[in-house]
Amino acid sequence: MSPTPVPNSTTPFWRTELHELDSHRTTPDLPSDCDIVIIGAGFAGAALAYYLYDDNPSPPSVVILEAREACSGATGRNGGHMKPDVYYQVPKYIKKYGVKAAVDVARFEASQVQAFKALVEKEKIDCDFVLTRACDATLDPDLARDTHHAFTELQKSGVANLKDVFYAYGKDAEQLSGVKGALSCFTFTAGHVWPYKMVLHLLRTAVNKGANLQTHTPVTRISDTELPDGRWLVETERGSIKAKKILLATNGYTAHLAPQFRDKIVPVRGICSRITVPKDRPVPFLPYTYSIRHGVGMYDYLIPRPDGSIIVGGAKPKFWHDRSQWYNVTDDSKLIEPAVPHFDGLMQRTFKGWETSGAKTDRVWTGIMGWTSDFMPYVGDIPGKPNQMILAGFSGHGMPLILLSAKAIVQMIRKGSKFEETGIPEIFRATEERLKSTENEILGSNSQPKL
Ligand SMILES: Cc1cc2nc3c(=O)[nH]c(=O)nc-3n(C[C@H](O)[C@H](O)[C@H](O)COP(=O)(O)OP(=O)(O)OC[C@H]3O[C@@H](n4cnc5c(N)ncnc54)[C@H](O)[C@@H]3O)c2cc1C
Repeated sequence: MSPTPVPNSTTPFWRTELHELDSHRTTPDLPSDCDIVIIGAGFAGAALAYYLYDDNPSPPSVVILEAREACSGATGRNGGHMKPDVYYQVPKYIKKYGVKAAVDVARFEASQVQAFKALVEKEKIDCDFVLTRACDATLDPDLARDTHHAFTELQKSGVANLKDVFYAYGKDAEQLSGVKGALSCFTFTAGHVWPYKMVLHLLRTAVNKGANLQTHTPVTRISDTELPDGRWLVETERGSIKAKKILLATNGYTAHLAPQFRDKIVPVRGICSRITVPKDRPVPFLPYTYSIRHGVGMYDYLIPRPDGSIIVGGAKPKFWHDRSQWYNVTDDSKLIEPAVPHFDGLMQRTFKGWETSGAKTDRVWTGIMGWTSDFMPYVGDIPGKPNQMILAGFSGHGMPLILLSAKAIVQMIRKGSKFEETGIPEIFRATEERLKSTENEILGSNSQPKL
């Protein structure tokens, strides 16, 4: 049996200012039945709940079951970086899935940043959202050369929309990026956000409109088959709920409730930190968010926050060789010790102008991602389980994928739209074929997730 979220998780910076709904239970007891149970109150679960109630005069009855506190999973412990992949993996996807599928994914990701900005403005969400540009800077000569060839081929082919991508290769890259030793850099539109505040705002909105949020309520089991009346039985230690529909937003923990996702959505532990500059010193200006590529699949990524602190994740060169630190790991109560010192002096080592900043590590935490064996999320109907749907498996890259995927799932529920009518890339569909596949790109020699 795959494990559920552990208690006593490390405290991320994002969870140092807790919302009134953090440990909320809308009713003292669980209702005995409802129309829709959402399992998981991270970005995916909250966005599903938000759209189920948005502009809906006759909403279904919705219960959100969350194992720990609201937004205490990956969303509450991530890097806050909303960086669509508009070029990097496109050549790989063209080879594997064809031009249309690859271009669809890039388009879908790029559209999320603007959709997110529109949502923040519409709902007046206080979540430090910043629309900016991401800068991918490559330090490794082999990777810089390979990326250069792949990108120039992509440009020549004319199939991808690269209008927003600026690229510099060679001598100008260091000056343009501000990254010491950068051999190439790309910039393009991206965003960053305080993810916990954003999710809690969405949950608040849904609860105000009638959603029943039940935190500290791990789901222990979903019935193997439907009850005679067609509903599913959702079991928890606090009682059971009969539901017409189940939405799994359980990320890296999905296989616990849906064993067909074992080895398909794998819990992968990551690490993040907050770096601060002493109050009596000026914070050097950082114009972009960054991904610093040290080699294939080896990176740090960071966002400069409005308060002058930096949120940095990655540190993979320090621990990725030791699979026991990250693969199939659900324990976010412990740090990845070999990675912790990596954050000390990172800003000074990496950026021009930061040498005398005095920047130091303020806090380090871990979190559990849901990496899929083909690096594509699972979105939509679960094969063989009528009225069960999934929105999970974002492979450490959920921020530019979840919002419009959730909106599309709700469109399927509320309007009866077919998957192919929603705009979700076809290769995100949860198919029997994907579940049967034995491929595991996570452990492949060329494993390269997006950040
Ligand atoms: C350290 C780290 C850094 C990251 N940095 C970035 C980044 O900068 N940019 C980016 O795009 N992505 C990043 N990610 C990935 C991103 O956070 C995820 O893709 C995204 O948050 C997934 O959202 P979710 O709602 O699917 O999952 P989660 O936020 O993990 O939510 C799932 C919820 O389901 C609950 N749950 C699970 N099982 C059960 C059960 N049986 N019963 C009840 N509840 C259950 C969990 O407790 C959890 O709250 C990072 C992730 C980590 C861990």
